[in-house]
Amino acid sequence: MSSPGKVTYISLSADDPAIDAAFEAAIAAARAELGANHPLHVAGQTRAGSGAIDSRSPTDGRTLVARVAAAGETDLNDAVAAARAAFPAWSARPWAERAAIVERAAELVRERKFELSVWLILEMGKNRVEALGEIEETADLLTYYAGEMRRNDGYLLPMDRLAPTDTNTSVLRPYGVWAVIAPWNFPYALLGAPIAAALVTGNTVVCKPSSETPLSAVKLTEIFEAAGVPPGALSCLPGSGRVIGDGLTAHPDVAGVTFTGSYDVGFNLYRRFARDFPKPCVVEMGGKNPALVMASADLAQAVAGVQRSAFGMNGHKCSACSRVFVHRAVADEFVAGLARAADAIVPGDPLGKGVFVGPVATQQSYADYQRYVGLAQGAGAGVVRAGAAVLTDGARAHGYFVRPTVLAGLPADHALLREELFVPIVAVQTIDSLDEALAAANDTKFGLTAGLFSREQREIDAFFERIEAGVVYVNRAAGATTGAWPGVQPFGGWKGSGSTGKNIGGHYTLLCYLREQSRTVCQ
Ligand code: NAD
Repeated sequence: MSSPGKVTYISLSADDPAIDAAFEAAIAAARAELGANHPLHVAGQTRAGSGAIDSRSPTDGRTLVARVAAAGETDLNDAVAAARAAFPAWSARPWAERAAIVERAAELVRERKFELSVWLILEMGKNRVEALGEIEETADLLTYYAGEMRRNDGYLLPMDRLAPTDTNTSVLRPYGVWAVIAPWNFPYALLGAPIAAALVTGNTVVCKPSSETPLSAVKLTEIFEAAGVPPGALSCLPGSGRVIGDGLTAHPDVAGVTFTGSYDVGFNLYRRFARDFPKPCVVEMGGKNPALVMASADLAQAVAGVQRSAFGMNGHKCSACSRVFVHRAVADEFVAGLARAADAIVPGDPLGKGVFVGPVATQQSYADYQRYVGLAQGAGAGVVRAGAAVLTDGARAHGYFVRPTVLAGLPADHALLREELFVPIVAVQTIDSLDEALAAANDTKFGLTAGLFSREQREIDAFFERIEAGVVYVNRAAGATTGAWPGVQPFGGWKGSGSTGKNIGGHYTLLCYLREQSRTVCQ
C-alpha cells in the first residue's frame, strides 16, 4: 500500500485508497474507545479534577465521545504555580533543545494524524478532508515555529555601541507563564500552534480548550508531554470559559495570553487583561467577511468560491464568507447559481467518505441557525433563496443537521448583515459599482477576510488598496481559507477581528511571545 498523501484546506476530496484504509482503521479503533474517561493534565501529572465534561457527537447526540475531567479553581492555581516554577529552567534551556522538542511533537502529530482526525470528526463534525487538513496544518505550524527559531538564530543580534569598549547585544526573551485559550472550530490548530509558539520561545503554558472540544486538548497535551516538554511547562485545563478562562486571564502570574474566539469574549478579555503594566494579549476574533462579485467576474468561479467559503465546514470558520456584494448586471445569474450550489449539498455523517458537510458543531450553533432562519423568513417575501431548514430525517434524526442557506435582498441595516453568524448562511446584496461594494464591505466592525471576483486589473488594484481586512484574495475558487495567514499582533490588528493571523502563521508570530533586552558588556 502506498503511503497516504497530504491533504490541505485546498483539497476537495481525499480520494486515495491508502487514505481511505487509514481512516477506516482509525474509525474502528476510535469506536472501541468511545466514552472513555480522560483525566486532567496538571503540573506533569494526571488528576481527577472537579467534575467532568461530556463531549457528545454533533452527528448523533446519543454518542458519548469522551468524558473529560474538568478543572476547578485549585487546578487552575496549581497549573499556574507549576508553570511559574518550570519557567526558569525551561527558558534557560538552549533554544535548539526547545525547538527539537516542538519538532518531535510535530512528528507525533503526523504519525497519529488519522487517529486525531477521527476524534476531531467525532467531536465537532468536520468532514474527513477538513479534519486531515487541520491536523496536517497543526503539525506544519509546529515545524514552522521551530524553523523560525533556527532561521533567526534564537533572536540574538549585535547592536551599535557608544564606546569601542562596549559590546551591545539585542536578545529576545520570553515573558513567563502564557495562557492559551482556544475555540471549538479548529481545536487542534488553534490550541497546538500557540502552545508551540509560546513554548519554543521559552514561555511556559497553561491552556484552556473550548468545553465543546475538550478531548482535542487532552490528546495534544499528551503529545507535547511525550515529545519531552517537562512537567509543569504545560498544563491543560478543560473547563468553562467564565470560570477557567476568566480565572486564568485574571491571574496575576499569567504574563501573556493568546485568545482565539468571539469578539464579545475576546475584546472584553483584552480590555481587562493588563492591570498594573502592559502585557501582551493576542486576540484573534470573529469576522463578517465579504466577497465582491463584479460584472467582469467569471461567475462559475465566483459561485464556487463563495459556496466553498460560506458553506465549507458549515460556515464554522472565522474566515467564512457571509456577505456577498454582487453587481446588478450579474446579480440574478449569480444568486441562481449560488442557490443551486447550496441545494446540491447533502449534509451527512462526516465520518463517511466524500461527505462535504456534516452537522453544525454545537447545540448553540443549531439554535443560532434556527433563530437566524426565523429572522430571514420575517425579513420579507423572496429573501430566502435556498435552504432555511433543519434536517431530521433518517440517520440525521439525532444530530444537528441543517441546510446551507442563501438569502438575498435583506434591508441594509438588518442584523443578519451585521452579526457574525458562524453557521451556513450567506446573504447576497446587489450593488451598482465597486465603490459602493467597497463602502458596504468595509461598513463592519470586523476585518478578517475579504474576496474579490473580477477580471479587471483596475478593480483588483482598488480592492487591495481600499479593503479593510487582514486576509484578502482575488478570484479564488477554493474559498477564503487561503492558508496565508498574517502574523499575530499583540496590540491591534484589523478592527474587531484582531490580528486575523489565526495564531498560526506569518513571519512575525514568534515576536509576540518575546520581549527585547539589550545587553551591554564593557571591557
Ligand atoms: P468563544 O468566544 O465563545 O470561546 C472561545 C474560548 O474562550 C473558549 O475556550 C471559551 O471557553 C473561552 N471563554 C469563554 N468565556 C470566557 C471568558 N470570560 N474569559 C476567558 N475565556 C472565555 O468562541 P467559540 O464559540 O469557541 O468560537 C467561535 C468564535 O471564534 C467565532 O467568533 C470565530 O470567528 C472565532 N474564531 C476566530 C479565529 C481567528 O483566527 N480570528 C479563528 C477561529 C475562530
